Amino acid sequence: MIDGDGARTWIGSFIGAFREQRAALDDLDRRSGDGDFGSNLLPAIEGALEGAGALSPGRAFTVLGRACMAAGGTSGPLFGVWFRELGRAGGDEPAVDLGALAVGAAAGLEAVCKLGGARVGDKTMVDAMDPAAAALTSAHERGETLYAALEQAATAARTAAHGTAALLAKRGRASYVGEASRGVEDPGAVAVALFFEAHPRPTIV
Ligand code: ADP
Ligand code: MG
Repeated sequence: MIDGDGARTWIGSFIGAFREQRAALDDLDRRSGDGDFGSNLLPAIEGALEGAGALSPGRAFTVLGRACMAAGGTSGPLFGVWFRELGRAGGDEPAVDLGALAVGAAAGLEAVCKLGGARVGDKTMVDAMDPAAAALTSAHERGETLYAALEQAATAARTAAHGTAALLAKRGRASYVGEASRGVEDPGAVAVALFFEAHPRPTIV
């Protein structure tokens, strides 16, 4: 189970990784769009949980989603609805389990597809969100631990983010640059990989 502190740790690690990769994310976006991806999202998410007090994990993701919404750009509202659905699945429960995260990731994927109209293979964040959600659901069905499931989701998202390099963009600004985006990983998909890779590790005692 991940409690409120665990969710904060997760979100904090994600923000840290995003900060470290901001310039690299901007560069990916520059080569396939306009170069603002990391610089757009980072300031919005950085202060998201500051001064928020104690939060359930569901509330923490909801607050993060609201911050993304306010970021603007194309990715802001899309990450906004994704985190909102993750948060909704957790509700006000003091801790979330793998079942809730799997439901949230599936609902988040659906909301992003509905809002942005992208499908797997369009070279967007959806390319990483889809296999990550599937990994959580199948790990849940196999009765795996939450930690093992998040590791599998992280691997699935990272593999998919790498895979977007080979694709030709069909959505967003990257679709305007045609063949020029070939060979460039999609920054949105990379950000999804960063999120799952930032998941909290079990404490070793
Ligand atoms: P822009 O600068 O074009 O407003 P951002 O730089 O904020 O957009 O975000 C670009 C990212 O948004 C892309 O890497 C891609 O993952 C994602 N994206 C763009 N369009 C869509 C879409 N229709 N559906 C899902 N994701 C999208
Ligand atoms: Mg951009």
